[in-house]
Amino acid sequence: MKIEIPNLQFEEKASVFKKHTNIEISDTIKGWIIYGDTHRQLDKKIFNLNPTERKGWESWSILAHLGLKKEFKGLFKDMTVDNVINVLKKDKQDFSQIISYLKLENPFRIITADDSFVWPNNKTGVGNGEGKAFLGPQKSITYDYWGELNEFIKVSILKQNLLDYYFQSKNEFYNPTKNYRNKIKMKQEFNKAYEDISILTENIELNFQIYTGKADKTRVYLRPEGEFTSNVTKTLRKISLKNYTQFVTEKLGDKKFEFKLKFIPSEVIPNPATKSNNLLQIPISELPKILERNTYSYVTNEKLVKEIKKMYSHCQFCRYKFEDYINSNGDRKQYSEAAHIKPKSEGGLDNLNNILCLCANCHSLFDLGTLYIDDNYVVRKSQKLLNESRYEDSYFNELELNEDHKLELRNIKFHRKLTKNN
Ligand SMILES: [Zn+2]
Repeated sequence: MKIEIPNLQFEEKASVFKKHTNIEISDTIKGWIIYGDTHRQLDKKIFNLNPTERKGWESWSILAHLGLKKEFKGLFKDMTVDNVINVLKKDKQDFSQIISYLKLENPFRIITADDSFVWPNNKTGVGNGEGKAFLGPQKSITYDYWGELNEFIKVSILKQNLLDYYFQSKNEFYNPTKNYRNKIKMKQEFNKAYEDISILTENIELNFQIYTGKADKTRVYLRPEGEFTSNVTKTLRKISLKNYTQFVTEKLGDKKFEFKLKFIPSEVIPNPATKSNNLLQIPISELPKILERNTYSYVTNEKLVKEIKKMYSHCQFCRYKFEDYINSNGDRKQYSEAAHIKPKSEGGLDNLNNILCLCANCHSLFDLGTLYIDDNYVVRKSQKLLNESRYEDSYFNELELNEDHKLELRNIKFHRKLTKNN
């Protein structure tokens, strides 16, 4: 089949074009001439711009500068990049600049965990889905990057990334903002997933097959190969949420990829400690970064955090032994959380007598007021926040206290009052 190649029609203005990276320009060209995306779709996909605000202007400007007007949209639909390059080389017009962009391969791609992937309890929609990561439609846009159907690929994930993601996503599992199918079980599975992650090695190697779905033959998925990959995939599904979870994938080489899990807060989660709702009215793009991890009682004073973490190797509430990990500087660390007793937002001070060293679970439960401390330094389970029948006895544990760690009883009383545990 012979393709009629339209004439290039250039727009002189280059200001928008110059502002973008070669990879972005390459993706814009491919999206337009091969995958047939609209300008608005490209703006959203490549530049993360609101399509209704920018109306596709960004990608239009780039394509117009290269002469690729509407006649080129989807002209090479479903052809591989290599085939497109061969066709363009034979044309009498000069496509050398466009060809050099087409040759660039963007090593990054984002898979969003959608409802067909997440664990049944975490679903917001109907049906059970494939339970496999969805890569894209059965088209060249998918095969160019991932490989052909039935091929096998290797994917690596760093344990440290899973741990980072785990604590970033924790709030959404503890205070769900969406109508998930089973919020209680979802939280239980999330807690269990921590143990599943902690036994993994630092560098996790997984094996998948490029696979087509049973229910929908037009889609391409990743099918886990072998028991280990199946188990890790299950854990990934348990900690993934539609709208929040992204797998940022990087192509490391032929059939080799790396996944990085990323938690994207898509909206502001109401903060139970503050009475005002003002934050909810601020557009998401203008919110300060700190809200990405919204728990209000995290201690941010570095010196103080160091000091308290040195005192404890176990959670002061439940005695959980803190997990060792290697941080991005290569230092060996233990994962624990420094929590204010009287939150800073309520006038609490950055002082050793106002902080605790807790595991992530107990920290959340303490913030929620599900756990509190009585005047005799006994950690107790709340009767008010939980169904009363759930706990016959409020006793949870003695508070572990290092001999150099003196707490201010007034702060403990304040926390009880704040969480209605008087
Ligand atoms: Zn604990």
